[in-house]
Amino acid sequence: MKNELEEVLLTEEQIRTRVSEIAARITADYEGKDPVLVCVLKGAVFFMADLVREIRVPCEMDFMAVSSYGSSSDSSGVVRILKDLDAQVEGRHVIIVEDIIDTGLTLSYLMKNLKARNPADVQVCALLTKPARRKVDNPCRYVGFEVPNKFVVGYGLDYEERYRNLRFIAALPEEMLE
Ligand code: 5GP
Repeated sequence: MKNELEEVLLTEEQIRTRVSEIAARITADYEGKDPVLVCVLKGAVFFMADLVREIRVPCEMDFMAVSSYGSSSDSSGVVRILKDLDAQVEGRHVIIVEDIIDTGLTLSYLMKNLKARNPADVQVCALLTKPARRKVDNPCRYVGFEVPNKFVVGYGLDYEERYRNLRFIAALPEEMLE
């Protein structure tokens, strides 16, 4: 599969090291706070799984699935909840775990939606950020890597449901997106 992809942007080793660093920061910041980590399906699933196993304070996992209207490579900002949280988050310290922040529209919706449930606090932990395409800026406390303005796949991120199982992150050649 590596051959059909343009270039490897982040290796398995780089991802592992960065995930541990972020987990160490979360461990330090959330001592005694019992946070709820909210994984945004499906793209953040491996990031969430690796991250929580490195966090050394008690924490809970919950999952949300959202779909953005628009094409698979372009978010419209109009978001529909396909799967909501199982638990109440009122009074809780919430950490949204995202795969990538692109325009920022999905995250903006999620922040608004979760804040309306009166949590103690909502912070964002995103593996990747693509600042070139940002339309809305949301405060993001934990960021793994900045990526160039290319469509990326692997480590949970897909193109039409493919490539999620890659252990690295790569850019998809432009011609494959057409
Ligand atoms: P936003 O609302 O920030 O534009 O988009 C957020 C969602 O779009 C991400 O959670 C992700 O599912 C998808 N997305 C944005 N950029 C990429 C990309 O480069 N590769 C993949 N696979 N998904 C992306």
